[in-house]
Amino acid sequence: MTKILNEILDFNQKFVEDHEYEKYETTKFPNKKMVILTCMDTRLLELLPKALNLGNGDAKIIKDAGALVSHPFGSVMRSILVALYQLKAQEVLVIAHYDCGMSGMKAEPVIESMKERGISEETLKTLTYSGIDIEQWLRGFESVTDSVKHSVDMIKNHPLMPKEVPVHGLVIDPKTGKLDLIVDGYKN
Ligand SMILES: [Zn+2]
Repeated sequence: MTKILNEILDFNQKFVEDHEYEKYETTKFPNKKMVILTCMDTRLLELLPKALNLGNGDAKIIKDAGALVSHPFGSVMRSILVALYQLKAQEVLVIAHYDCGMSGMKAEPVIESMKERGISEETLKTLTYSGIDIEQWLRGFESVTDSVKHSVDMIKNHPLMPKEVPVHGLVIDPKTGKLDLIVDGYKN
């Protein structure tokens, strides 16, 4: 069986040798001056940039499970701030999607799965005693539109956000790429 990594490394060697990278050459500054927070969903890998007319170099894209800002001083918020202050992004777009894995996700089945894969009850207890609410941390959202509004609010009202930056909220259809506008950042 070919291993994932071997396959990647073999392909990569040829990619570089053949100068395939030349058509992707650009800079670290987003041509379209935006930073996008979206979901890691596989269906969005190519669909989202195509549906938004984004080519290589056009946008900073941050991905996580659910397009969520789970902590105001976590790495997602830091990435947004770096994009705005250091990399010339001027607008923020939060783009969640319908049929997201984080929609309605409960912590219990994930924890069950962890136990089956060898995470001990003791480890889970230690985390709880250390003040980590693992159930809260793993929980998804009930409504994707509410979730987008919440993420937009968190970003917009962050104490370190420049006041004039528009923060938009959208939901994309993972099949058709159609965008629904939830929050128009120009009006907020
Ligand atoms: Zn998702």
